[in-house]
Amino acid sequence: MLARFARRSPLSCFGSALLIATWCQAAGTLAAEQAPAQTAKPVLLLTGEDYPGHKWKETTPVLRSQLEKDTRLQIQVVEDLKFLRSPDLHKFAAIVMHFKNYDPAVPGPEGQENLARFVREGGGAVLVHFACGAFQEWPEFVNIAGRVWDPKLRGHDPYGVFRVDIIESNHPITRGLASFEVPDEMYTCLTGETPVTVLATAVSKVDQKTYPMAFTLTYGKGRIFHSPLGHDVKALGTSAVGKLFRRATAWAAGLQPMEVGGK
Ligand SMILES: [Zn+2]
Repeated sequence: MLARFARRSPLSCFGSALLIATWCQAAGTLAAEQAPAQTAKPVLLLTGEDYPGHKWKETTPVLRSQLEKDTRLQIQVVEDLKFLRSPDLHKFAAIVMHFKNYDPAVPGPEGQENLARFVREGGGAVLVHFACGAFQEWPEFVNIAGRVWDPKLRGHDPYGVFRVDIIESNHPITRGLASFEVPDEMYTCLTGETPVTVLATAVSKVDQKTYPMAFTLTYGKGRIFHSPLGHDVKALGTSAVGKLFRRATAWAAGLQPMEVGGK
């Protein structure tokens, strides 16, 4: 039953909160009955709004399938940012943020504060690509995201293949991961002073400077992983990128990442 729920088509409206609540209850019950507490975690994949060049309807299923290769991650897709206002947010172990918000009223301060509280109290967060710019008008966001989009900076190198160097191999997310190449936008637009642990970097072909491609931080009791990788289906479909986000989501949700290997 749980597997059937996990493969449901994405929820498209906030009115599905009851279904989500039912799903969470089912997930909790099954986890308690069939496996030790650490073997399955409900993870929210939140999307539904982004820059028009980001085809979230195409990229979300790819990201989802990359994450679901770790079968402990019970992914629920929600395509309505208003869900951030819901108390049901707190039933998830982690949120994967695959959106950029444009309307300051949706989810508004209520949703933003609920998200902050979720992470502060121990919820994990994974930020994908343009989620660095998710809440431009919210000053506290830099303390959750670690680095945020600064529109005054050069946005990114032209889309193309570049190498991502793993520079921290003692972290649970990157332990055993090799450096890799990916077709993507190499972001050069992140700013912020929040302390972060950089796990991976890349060198720009335009200005030869080194930029962070993956980093972690904490906010209250919550673990956060942030990577500007993941512009499109090709980037997110790259095996190494999937592995990075999959391991990071497990870590953010409080699980030990799976062994490196396989696809
Ligand atoms: Zn992009």
